[in-house]
Amino acid sequence: MNEGPTTEYAKRFGELRTDASRSRWSALTYHRAPHKPLLLLCVLDLFEQGSIRSNLLELTPDLGELFTRYWAKVMPPDRRGNLALPFFHLRSDGFWRLIPNPGKKDVLDSVTQIRSLFQLRDTVAGARLEEGLYKILHASEPRATLRAVLIETYFAPELWPALLEQSAVNHEAFRYSEELLQRNNAKIAETLIEEKTYRPAARDQGFRRAVVMAYVHRCAFCGIRVLTLDGHTAVEASHIVPWSLSYDDRPTNGIALCRMCHWAFDEGLIRISAGYEIVTSSQLTVVDNLLGYLMNLEGRGIFGPAQKLFWPDTESLRWHHKYVFRAR
Ligand SMILES: [Zn+2]
Repeated sequence: MNEGPTTEYAKRFGELRTDASRSRWSALTYHRAPHKPLLLLCVLDLFEQGSIRSNLLELTPDLGELFTRYWAKVMPPDRRGNLALPFFHLRSDGFWRLIPNPGKKDVLDSVTQIRSLFQLRDTVAGARLEEGLYKILHASEPRATLRAVLIETYFAPELWPALLEQSAVNHEAFRYSEELLQRNNAKIAETLIEEKTYRPAARDQGFRRAVVMAYVHRCAFCGIRVLTLDGHTAVEASHIVPWSLSYDDRPTNGIALCRMCHWAFDEGLIRISAGYEIVTSSQLTVVDNLLGYLMNLEGRGIFGPAQKLFWPDTESLRWHHKYVFRAR
């Protein structure tokens, strides 16, 4: 049915203008910059999730996170990906039109490059796809065809399994997080495991997404919230009763915590009372520690989710108090 336009876009996806350099890019990406194909893989994922409801792709943390995950599959850890580059430069490939923010048309028309997400977000509202492309991306077959073109054209065969796996995990993780947020009160973890619908990597990623969203990226203990424009966040999703014991991925068995608070919670140096107040262990002070902000947390209320139904489950908190907390 969509054979005409899909074939056309398959051809155009196979002819992206990318930076080619043997010194900058390895044989794994055929000595070409991987930014554009990776960004387009993310776009396919967003359509797969049903997250694209109008023809304007915005610079959201979700997009940034997807880009970072794909980037990590193809590039060494010391090379940091920059989403601003492909988001800006895809405009030279014909099907990607940048839409300026109000009053920024002249700026956008005159610049030849934008290297930072800050500057990009200041200048553009997002990108609009050519209508024909926008239309076919709502169907799964064209998406699968274009995904294959991107992966097979721009990446060496040894990367294909990892990229395909990441696509599948992204999709499952999104569905899992939506289920967790919608069916919070059911015995969700058990039913979902029996269904065997989700692979472990998707569960991890989906639980994390659900919890971090419920807490809007804020640490429940110290309140820190740092979310970069490319979707990097200061918080992690912590299980109150570990997954290995509880098989419980409900958001109420999770808390969003920054790394330090997460560590202190898992170490039993901090707990949450039944009234959702923070209690610190006397073990924090027995040696000559520099407690930093942990010292100020005692007796303060937690920064909980806006929705009451996602606040930590009191049973789980009791378990943590009994088995993990260092009372003295
Ligand atoms: Zn914290």
